[in-house]
Amino acid sequence: MNPAAPASPAAPVASLLPGLAERLPALRELYEDLHAHPELSFQEVRTAGVVAARLREQGWEVTEGVGGTGVVGVLVNGEGPVVLLRADMDALPVKEETGLPYASIARAVDGHGNEVPVMHACGHDMHVTCLLGATAQLAGHRGHWRGTVVAVFQPAEEVGGAPGMIEDGFADRFPRADVCLAQHVMPAPVGFVATRPGPLMSASDSMKVLLHGRGGHGSAPELTVDPVVMAAAIVMRLQTVVSREVGGTQTAVVTVGSIHSGTKENIIPDTAEMLVNIRSTTSAVRDRVLAAVERVIRAEAAASGAPKDPEITRLPSFPVTNNDAEATAVVTAVLGDALGADRVMTLPQPFTGSEDFGVFGTALGVPSVMWHFGGADPALFQGIDPDDLLENGLPATIPTNHSPHYAPVPDPTIEIGVTALLAAASHWLR
Ligand SMILES: [Zn+2]
Ligand SMILES: [Zn+2]
Repeated sequence: MNPAAPASPAAPVASLLPGLAERLPALRELYEDLHAHPELSFQEVRTAGVVAARLREQGWEVTEGVGGTGVVGVLVNGEGPVVLLRADMDALPVKEETGLPYASIARAVDGHGNEVPVMHACGHDMHVTCLLGATAQLAGHRGHWRGTVVAVFQPAEEVGGAPGMIEDGFADRFPRADVCLAQHVMPAPVGFVATRPGPLMSASDSMKVLLHGRGGHGSAPELTVDPVVMAAAIVMRLQTVVSREVGGTQTAVVTVGSIHSGTKENIIPDTAEMLVNIRSTTSAVRDRVLAAVERVIRAEAAASGAPKDPEITRLPSFPVTNNDAEATAVVTAVLGDALGADRVMTLPQPFTGSEDFGVFGTALGVPSVMWHFGGADPALFQGIDPDDLLENGLPATIPTNHSPHYAPVPDPTIEIGVTALLAAASHWLR
């Protein structure tokens, strides 16, 4: 496995890197500890405690409990721009199957009162580790940069926790950033970084739909309005929203991820419940698809003779993650200087995954840039037949984020993640 390409001595990040190599064993230990102790969204109490203690040791001014379990560190180092660096802290209700010596066996009670296994299946433990590595380097090299850094450790990214920090007065309580930066680990070979100007990640909208029928005996459907048939018709008709109502050059995804109705084969139930998720990358497509989905649901219910309109409840949504074009060009160039220009790719199109990081830049009215960095062992990509690659260009054998088998390799992912954060920030802090 190749270590991170050494930053060229001319790169502004070079003066922030001394001592990082010596710090890596402790960062790896921290990563393994966080990985073994994952916490669900808004329950990141232990993680927040670890973060706050480390930041204080490093000399940062620390505020805890921002927007729930969020932690914000501020380091003022003379006049200069304010750079916001953000990491998310939460884990997922997934039973870990990586077999790693530091695999999680944690369990927790979720928001619905169910006991669930918990795992850092999205790599947010890597994000926390890399940002704490970057904050340590910044604190240790104050003679080599000027300005202010706001280090944001955000709760509950998986359920959209960023707006909670904003609603908790974030914009007024902390130095106002000139630029917001964040990174996310992905299942590409370690060493590679990918980003793009404009939309990087899709908007995500979810809704819960309660369909009303009229229940009765399974032997006498003529006396009922069957919500199972109604739901089935809606699911099929929703498949035409993207194929018939979204232009060929646009993208959107409509997924019915959950459908529940009934208890027994000879009972026609009263109701059916569906959970629908929609991804889009422009507000025009988003508006159009959301309206079409609602129109189909209401019209199919009417067509079925539903005695009552469907109840549609909107669930937490994520905006499009938009990368500022100018700032992204800068970040792409400095990451190229630090990691090797051939390691930094510009993505042809946005990911259909979603993020709430964009909420910070939008709330502060400043540019933001996010990039993805590889965390997969390059050996796993050797000898793969190009015909065996999935739609996303990755082999089907590589576990992806949210899989029970997903875990980035700590070395050199941590080193590259810390270097990338420092490199991007150093452009504004020199
Ligand atoms: Zn995730
Ligand atoms: Zn994530």
